[in-house]
Amino acid sequence: MAIAYLNGQWMPPGEAKVSVFDRGFMFGDGVYEVMPVYDGRIFTKAAHLARLARSQSEIDLAPVMSAAAWSALMDEAVTKSGETQALIYIQVTRGSAIERSHVYPGGPPTVLVMVTPFHPKTATEIQPLKVSTAEDIRWHRADIKVTSLIANGIIKNRALANGFDDAIMIRGENVTEGTASNVFIVVNGEILTPPKSQWLLHGITRDEMIRVALEAGLPLREIDFDETVLAGAAEIWLSSTGLELVPVGQLNGQWVGDGLPGPIWKQVFDGFQARKRAID
Ligand code: PMP
Repeated sequence: MAIAYLNGQWMPPGEAKVSVFDRGFMFGDGVYEVMPVYDGRIFTKAAHLARLARSQSEIDLAPVMSAAAWSALMDEAVTKSGETQALIYIQVTRGSAIERSHVYPGGPPTVLVMVTPFHPKTATEIQPLKVSTAEDIRWHRADIKVTSLIANGIIKNRALANGFDDAIMIRGENVTEGTASNVFIVVNGEILTPPKSQWLLHGITRDEMIRVALEAGLPLREIDFDETVLAGAAEIWLSSTGLELVPVGQLNGQWVGDGLPGPIWKQVFDGFQARKRAID
């Protein structure tokens, strides 16, 4: 059952309400996280909580609670929901003020946690995506997981309106990431992914896929590449907590390889399936 926690109270998600003066509503002034629960266990919990702490620190928001308290709250949320395959969504905003002002109100933050069922697609259910490329028009700190996702939303919805499933963003010469995912490509048998920087989110799933690939002995480099290299790749994949790892079958209307999920994608996807059930 989906469940929400708002500032210390547990309730059905539809009953969770915040003030119109909440800075999350007024300014998109908040950070968030999404972490997966597999077989009742939270996968990569420490990494997600570390990223949440970093996001808060990068926006000058004081820690809301200790890592141990967050961890216990996550466990309690999963237990209360009764879900064994789920996504946990956390959002922390700078709280609410009594009037609209850019100046921080200084009061307590707003803390929301939601648990919802999650059924990631199996290899046979996955359909290769049709993806376009688009200019990355986001701000200069795409590494912070902020709730203000207006640019991501515009780019994604324009891609949908043009018949694509998603878009891969390009900043200047460089491929950065998907609208809600990181990008991997295969060129000459080697896996390439853009390095961590201020221009892309440091995806936890990205880290996991890199580990899986390296443990399987696959060649991999974290390196910038441009749209020409992207367009010539034998395989393109998108990674995120919700997608896990999904192949791209068409880029801007052109087949990627033969348009089917590639062999290296399958090897890393299978490796991740084993890993997610084996490791906390
Ligand atoms: N990039 C962006 C822009 C995202 O929104 C996300 C997912 N929220 C990711 C990458 C993937 O991050 P993760 O693997 O930690 O879910």
